[in-house]
Order: sequence, then structure tokens, then C-alpha cells
Amino acid sequence: PYDVLVVGGGPAGAAAAIYAARKGIRTAIVAERFGGQVMDTVGIENFISVPYTEGPKLAASLEQHVKQYGVEVITEQRAAAISKDGYVNVALASGATLKSRAVILATGARWRDLNVPGEIEYRTKGVAYCPHCDGPFFKGKRVAVIGGGNSGIEAAIDLAGIVEHVTVVEFADTLRADDVLQKKARSMGNIDIIMSARTTEVIGDGSRVVGMDYEDRTTGEIKRLNVAGIFVQIGLVPNTEFLKGSEIALTRTGEIEIDTKGATSLPGVYAAGDATTVPFKQIIISMGAGATAALGAFDYLIRHQAP
Ligand code: FAD
Repeated sequence: PYDVLVVGGGPAGAAAAIYAARKGIRTAIVAERFGGQVMDTVGIENFISVPYTEGPKLAASLEQHVKQYGVEVITEQRAAAISKDGYVNVALASGATLKSRAVILATGARWRDLNVPGEIEYRTKGVAYCPHCDGPFFKGKRVAVIGGGNSGIEAAIDLAGIVEHVTVVEFADTLRADDVLQKKARSMGNIDIIMSARTTEVIGDGSRVVGMDYEDRTTGEIKRLNVAGIFVQIGLVPNTEFLKGSEIALTRTGEIEIDTKGATSLPGVYAAGDATTVPFKQIIISMGAGATAALGAFDYLIRHQAP
């Protein structure tokens, strides 16, 4: 058995593994894909002390740093269930089970896709999911935000300070965002809100997004918006489906509930990063949370005997 088994190989998992391994304890990472969401990111400008880097480059440095500490890295394996019998057991989809005294869950999240033609083709070429990350790339341009919930309206307000103009495109005939956000958005001179609009296609010129089409659901007419960027804000889904029915408490939306030391409701199991209730989902925040969870797990180990 391991002392600490980290499930997930994104920024949170990598930081957790390094902090654990530095305590001289037996540490492993099991992950479907090392690097996590970072592998899908092109420019990163908010990883403090590194003015500019690219996702695959950061992921390669994470892996190198982890391996420098002799962490066992098991990739292309998916955790399918978790249980406890003294040790924490992580059952893999392949049929094997990994045992550890403590486990750190860092399985991240994924943005809900629009599932329309052009979205995948133009991802990172104008189709974006994170306004804090990619907003500045659209300075002085026209953009659309898809989704009129809190995250969509927050994104529109955030972007309106940087870009020339924002159009919010909402499927329903009302906005779900809090009133105070709606008021703020309507008070800004450069945000338009279109409701009852079903996004049908991302339009590109072969290399970049140039617009998007939507169906006006009141008339059935297809209309076009000329925009350089499309921010998809229709939900962030935590990768925690495999924890449903376990002893680990999740919120209604599937986020793992953690305390200030990263502890979950199951003793010996810690969690960090985008899969948890942490309010902001960013690389630097996930790394800090990974370090916290590892120190929390170490604290647990020195207080509990091996079974
Ligand atoms: P993730 O990066 O999601 O990693 C999750 C890990 O868990 C992966 O290794 C995955 O394979 C693994 N996993 C999932 N389920 C299982 C399972 N059942 N079994 C085993 N392994 C599993 N943030 C910034 O700070 N700056 C940016 O510029 C930026 N740009 C972004 C651009 C894009 C396109 C996206 C999608 C995100 C961006 N983000 C950015 C957000 C940032 O990438 C995330 O906040 C961060 O990666 C979260 O780290 P994490 O380790 O919690 O999860």
C-alpha cells in the first residue's frame, strides 16, 4: 500500500504529490491524463512569476518536477470507486485496486460543451471557457458570452471592461443570474443581452472564429453575430461521478465538500482543485489547494497508525 495516493494528475494532483513526497512517504499518482485541463490550454499569462507559458509546456514541467521526487506515476487509468476498510481502496476501471493510508482526490472538472458545429475545431482559436484566463486576448474586439446564469453575466461584466462589446446569448426567455448582476450588466454601455436564442454554429475563417449563428426561438429565424471570441458559460462539471454513492459528501452540483485543510467527510481522504467546493477555479489556486491537501493528509498520517 501507499502512504498517499493522489487521484488526478492536473496542477492540484501534481502539487499534492510533490508536497507529500517531500515528507519522505510512499506517494503515487493515478490519472487518466497527466496535465489535466492544462493540456487543453494555449497561452497562460496568470501563473504568477511566469509571465507567459503554454499548457503542454507547463504540464511537461509538472511531470518532470513530480518524477524528480520518485513519485510513482500511473497514467491512462480511471478511478471508478472508492471505499475504506482501514486502508482507502481506489478501484480502477481496469479492475485493479490501489490501497493507500490516505488518498487525495484531484480529479478536476470539465466545461460543459455547446455541442454545435465549429466548437471543437475553433477551441482555443476564439472559442474560450475562462474569462479570467482568455479575456485579455480579446482586447478591443467584439465577443459573445453563451449562458445567462451567474457565471455568464459575471463573465460579461468582466469582459466588458476589456473588450469593445459583449453580447450575452441566453437559451431561455429569462436570465437566471442574480438581480444585482443583471442590473450591473444592464448599466454598462457595451453589453447587449439576447434571450430565447439557441446557439447553432461557431463560424470561423479556417484559422479563427469570426462569428456565431443562433436561432431566434420566437421566430425560428437564424441570425448571425460577428464576434472574434465566444465564451461558453453553461456550466463547469466536476469529475466526481465515480464518488456518487460513496461516503464522500458532495454538493448538489457534485463538488467535493472540503474543510480548510482539504479534508473530505471520509477520514483519511482529502481533496483539492476544481473538483471541490473551492470558489475559484484556476491553476495557481489548484496548486495551493493541492499543497494544503497534502499537508492535511500528512497531519492525518502522523496521528493514525497504519492498519
Ligand atoms: P484538472 O486540471 O482538471 O486535472 C484533473 C486530473 O484528474 C487529470 O489528470 C484527469 O485526467 C484526472 N482525472 C479525472 N477523473 C479521473 C478519474 N476518475 N480517475 C483518474 N483520473 C481522473 N487556469 C488558469 O489559472 N490560467 C489559465 O490561463 C487557464 N486557462 C484555461 C483554459 C482552458 C481551455 C481550460 C479548460 C481551463 C483553463 N484554466 C486556466 C483552468 C485550469 O486549467 C484549472 O483550474 C486547473 O487545471 C484545475 O486543476 P485540477 O488539478 O484541479 O484539475
